[in-house]
Amino acid sequence: MFELMEEDRHEELVFRNDPASGLRAVVALHNTRLGPAIGGCRCIEYPNSEAAVRDVMRLSRGMSYKSALAGMQYGGGKAVICRPHTIRDREALFAAFGDLVESLNGRYITAVDSGTSTRDMAVAARRTKYVTSTSKEADPSPWTALGVFRGIQAAVRFRLGADSLDGVHVAVQGVGHVGYPLARRLHEAGARLTVSDIDADKARRACAEFGAECVPANDIYEVECDVFAPCGLGAVINDATLKQLRCRIVAGSANNQLMEDAHGLRLHEKGILYAPDYVINAGGLIFVALNHSGIGEEGVRDKTERIGETLENLFQRARESGEPCNQIANRMAEEILYGP
Ligand code: NAD
Repeated sequence: MFELMEEDRHEELVFRNDPASGLRAVVALHNTRLGPAIGGCRCIEYPNSEAAVRDVMRLSRGMSYKSALAGMQYGGGKAVICRPHTIRDREALFAAFGDLVESLNGRYITAVDSGTSTRDMAVAARRTKYVTSTSKEADPSPWTALGVFRGIQAAVRFRLGADSLDGVHVAVQGVGHVGYPLARRLHEAGARLTVSDIDADKARRACAEFGAECVPANDIYEVECDVFAPCGLGAVINDATLKQLRCRIVAGSANNQLMEDAHGLRLHEKGILYAPDYVINAGGLIFVALNHSGIGEEGVRDKTERIGETLENLFQRARESGEPCNQIANRMAEEILYGP
């Protein structure tokens, strides 16, 4: 365990076993140098406890990097609850999780993630104030969309030398909570849109409202376009799709877009500019964190708008060093977390 922690420089792992509520949870605090660790709580079934530990460690490290590059005074953390096959009493489970978060005295701030809801967070909030995204709070997705929009503008300026999105062709994969408001912004900026969604109603709505062309889910990779914006699921940049892509930029909200780090190098070799996912999709984190600390909408907007500048610096460094953008992003985050 300590070797694992040393490998990616984890500060602390906290385990909680509470037979009364059925809670089995792990909280990982990756790095708290910049401030309290912030990150969501997953509640999913794991094949064994090692899988849960590996998942929480991978995710908490990702949060440290995301927060650092978003210029936040927060560190990276994450929690997982090993979901029992049948949950006896969901309220008791999340109340016990709230007690666990409270016991960390503010060093970890939790939020919703896969398998948890704002209602669960509202239950945890009865036991701790170190929780965001309770039922009272608004959806972070429009802020994520704003950050992605600024990121696309920065990428288009850098790769295509265009100051406007007028006539720029963007293929949006997934028009859900982030993809839909993103498509609206792109449409308003004059972009030409192609969209896909496995939910036909959502795809149809985007076509009707934004004049987008709809394509079947599997055809989106082959659309000849300027920007491919993955806003659906992860691992969409992989061996198979790399052969299909006919875009010049990949910039979207989905988490973990590269199936493996090596796929970032492959994009680079194909001359496709990649806006690293955890940099471009930080708007939601910025909203959740700053909202929790009582900073108003203007503060959230200001930080989210700066995602474009961060990406411009990153692209410039990648050009100068000849390295892929995903590697540069990791290095930039590590310089903030550990010094140059
Ligand atoms: P969502 O579930 O609201 O939307 C995703 C959409 O993608 C859905 O409409 C779904 O039908 C569609 N979809 C799924 N598989 C697809 C496929 N193969 N082809 C085409 N469409 C497909 O989720 P969301 O909140 O909009 O998040 C989208 C992505 O952005 C996720 O990867 C999420 O982790 C990431 N993200 C979201 C936020 C946020 O603020 N919501 C923040 C950071 C990252």
